[in-house]
Parts: sequence; C-alpha cells; structure tokens
Amino acid sequence: MVIIILGAQGTGKGTVAGIISENTKLLQLSTGDIFRKNIKEQTPLGIEANKYIANGNLVPDDITVPMVVSYLDSEMAKNGVILDGFPRSLAQAEKLDEILEKRGKKVDLVVNLTTPRDEIIDRILTRRVCSNQQCRATYNLKMHPPIKEGICDKCGANLIQREDDSSKEAIQKRLEIYDNQTAPLVEYYRKKGILRTEEVSVRINRLGKQVAFDIIKDIENK
Ligand code: AMP
Repeated sequence: MVIIILGAQGTGKGTVAGIISENTKLLQLSTGDIFRKNIKEQTPLGIEANKYIANGNLVPDDITVPMVVSYLDSEMAKNGVILDGFPRSLAQAEKLDEILEKRGKKVDLVVNLTTPRDEIIDRILTRRVCSNQQCRATYNLKMHPPIKEGICDKCGANLIQREDDSSKEAIQKRLEIYDNQTAPLVEYYRKKGILRTEEVSVRINRLGKQVAFDIIKDIENK
C-alpha cells in the first residue's frame, strides 16, 4: 500500500504519518527527515541538500528522486509506505507514478491536510522536534508540549527548533513554494479519485492525531 500525506508546512503531516506508521506495517518515508539526518551527519547528500533547505528552497529532483527510490526499494518498505513530504510538485508526482508502475504498484490514497494559514504560521514557530534522528518525535509548545520542558517524552533527548522553522522569511518562502508547486497536486489526485481532504484545526477541535486514527480504522476495514 502506498499512502501520500499532502499539506502545507505545519498542517501536521509528520504527526499523522508517524501515528499511522506506528500502528500499521507501513514505513514512514519523510524526505525532510531523511535530509535532516544527512545534514546532521554531514554526508555529501546532506551538505548538498542543505544549500537549498537552509534558504527554504526545494532540493532539486536529481537529488530527491533517487533518494526516495532507494527507500522505496528497500526491505523496510516491503509492507508499503506512507510518504510525507514527497511528492511536492507535479513533476515529482508524475515521476512517482512512473516508478510505482514499473514495480506493479500505485498510489492508493492521498490524504490532503488543510489548516488555516494564521494557525499554520503559529504552529511552525512553536514546533519543536526531537534531536534524536531515530526518534524524530514532534511537539508543539502550545498544543502538544512535552511533559518536561525541552526534553522528548519518548526518548529523553533534547528538543530543538528546526533551523528552517526559526526564520519567518524561510517559512513564508516555503509556504509560497507550497502554493505554487505543491497545491496543484490536490487537483492531480482528485482527478484520480484517490484524494481524501481532512481539515486539521484547533478551531474545529480536530487534531492530526484524530485524523490519523480515523485513517488507520479505514485501512484496517479494507
Ligand atoms: P519538510 O520537513 O517536509 O518541511 O522538508 C524540509 C525541507 O526539505 C523542505 O523545505 C525542502 O527544502 C526539502 N524537501 C523535503 N521534501 C522535498 C521534496 N519532495 N522535494 C524537494 N525538496 C524537499
């Protein structure tokens, strides 16, 4: 099974994908997390990717696509994947269809998370992530704070703010890129009849956690 979680930054893609992955056999494949792990370890991929990420730009497809393929073809993905942060453009979506088709697979479900823009900016600025790359838990200082300030509930490592979350300019740029390059994917997948839109917002008291458990229920009933 291949599931894509779509949505602008700060809508809770990582949270939803993480909960689904923990409760199913699907591998969470987060391109942003893989890039951050490589940046931390200063691998050649990380050094190259960081030139784009630090400024809020997309990493070019000739770096991103082969990286995704290597995970899709790995043993870890044998039961299926939940893609979080990929595809991010029509070119990537078409490439993904091509890659899956060659392997006798297809995208089964696309979950489109929507959140009002003012809530998104507030969420990104108050987001904290676990510094332990094996854990990668995400917190929000207002909505979902850790029990002990600055410490991950799950593994005890320090919580940090992502570099690209700390600058308003980088956040704005990422949202602009989302509107211009990623938002058209909503229509692309709607036309294929596999799109499921879910509003995630404190205003309607619907959080990513609830969305994730609803999706898990539906997957299990299929
Ligand atoms: P994310 O954690 O999904 O917000 O990703 C963080 C950053 O990694 C993005 O702002 C991009 O610079 C880069 N990135 C993640 N996924 C992709 C992708 N599919 N294509 C290009 N760049 C990506």
